[in-house]
Amino acid sequence: MLYQSTRGGAPADGCEAVLRGIAPDGGLYVDAALAKRPFPWDVVLCLPPLSMAARIMSHLLPDFDGMDELLRKAWPERFDSPAITPLAVAGDHRVLELFHGPTCAFKDVALSVLPLLMTKAREKRGGAGQTLILTATSGDTGKAALEGFCNVDGTGIVVFFPDGGVSPVQRLQMVTQTGENVRVCAVSGNFDDCQNGVKKAFAALNESGEPAHHGIALSSANSINIGRLAPQTVYYFLAYRQLMDRDEIAPGDKVDFVVPTGNFGDILAGYQAKLMGLPVGRLVCASNANRVLTDFFETGVYDRRREFMRTASPSMDILISSNLERLLYLVSNGADAFVSACMHALSRNGSYTVPEEVMARIRKDFAAGCCSEEECSETIGRVWREDHYLADPHTAVALKVTDEWKASGQAAKAVVTLSTASPFKFPAAVLAAAGGSVSGDEFADMEALSALSGRPVPSALSGLREKPVRFADVIAPDEIGDYVHEIIRKGGV
Ligand SMILES: *Cc1c(COP(=O)(O)O)cnc(C)c1O
Repeated sequence: MLYQSTRGGAPADGCEAVLRGIAPDGGLYVDAALAKRPFPWDVVLCLPPLSMAARIMSHLLPDFDGMDELLRKAWPERFDSPAITPLAVAGDHRVLELFHGPTCAFKDVALSVLPLLMTKAREKRGGAGQTLILTATSGDTGKAALEGFCNVDGTGIVVFFPDGGVSPVQRLQMVTQTGENVRVCAVSGNFDDCQNGVKKAFAALNESGEPAHHGIALSSANSINIGRLAPQTVYYFLAYRQLMDRDEIAPGDKVDFVVPTGNFGDILAGYQAKLMGLPVGRLVCASNANRVLTDFFETGVYDRRREFMRTASPSMDILISSNLERLLYLVSNGADAFVSACMHALSRNGSYTVPEEVMARIRKDFAAGCCSEEECSETIGRVWREDHYLADPHTAVALKVTDEWKASGQAAKAVVTLSTASPFKFPAAVLAAAGGSVSGDEFADMEALSALSGRPVPSALSGLREKPVRFADVIAPDEIGDYVHEIIRKGGV
């Protein structure tokens, strides 16, 4: 059993961990031995990109076979760049563009793979019944998961998003989703309310045994699922390789990565790459005005008792960063009692404190910075004027933190900034910041952005205007459990 629960419950193998999403004790599955299992990273870095990816995935999920074929099915046809995650040059910045998939956000990299992993895991388990995916989204996971699971045999998916808490384009992407096995529902609350509601529904339903009774197994497509993290580890290697190919680094040189962060999944995937041997210097956590993580890295106190801000980078509007639980487990050498105590304190009192010796270990590998709303917009404008590069608001948060990180004198020679969404996904915010005039119509703004930059509007976004809205449900956070229960009672979506 490779995967431990961060809260000390029963361990699981890869198939079980992927199918469950979250451990029955409420913890997250972690490969505690990752740093100890040998991985020939230097050899793997010289392979063609898809073979490299397959080797990395096979190491992270050893009980899945046929990874080469799986990735060939997941990526080349759905991504509009042969590099999958191309490394763009924007002046002095090296920007790893993760948004070339079907929904124009980085979540596509993993969510085009996860359904295939689940199908494989289901087959190994005999394949009976339905897997029902419950997903809370701050904007991008929902659409990427809907797209990934749409019409996948034996699965159904329900997505909950904060009503008014996602961008208009993000909302349209979700409520117009096609497919027989999908359901989308707005929740009158913020992302944390959605995530908590889904976690509670999981716990209550699993306890009642009701889903199993109807032949349904619940799972999650959020980054609490290890099947989400593994594909995200791949692009840290792909970035490193692209720097090598351009002679910007020699093999073995350290590279820092600046990651626009919300639920801490993307950056944790980078930590996995480091544990596997990739020469990663520091992982720099970039937050927007919801700077709960910046404060945590500074003080060792994680405190969610603060005002929740709605920003121009909604996918990072999060006060409870779930995957931090995995980091705490890994840096405390599997101290599950300590991790459980922290998580219970967080849900009971809204905060927890990490001892200084653990923080010292964390700070060897991580740094943090944040970016206000004004700074975000200013950065989009400046990078456009000076480097002729259009950054979306999430990427801009990271670019601003990258500049500060470099100015601090602590940075490695090469620093890569992760770009998590296409600028066309947030047309009004980007257009205004780049000096254009906003029309009040998102689609007109996309066209204006296209005219300004000379880049075409991605067809997945321009086509939204014609698509009929299929989902209009709005519920309160405490109704999520009943909503799911009703779906289960009917035998699935
Ligand atoms: C989800 C998301 C993030 C945050 O990633 P986490 O893994 O939750 O930290 C950042 N930017 C965009 C565009 C996203 O969709």
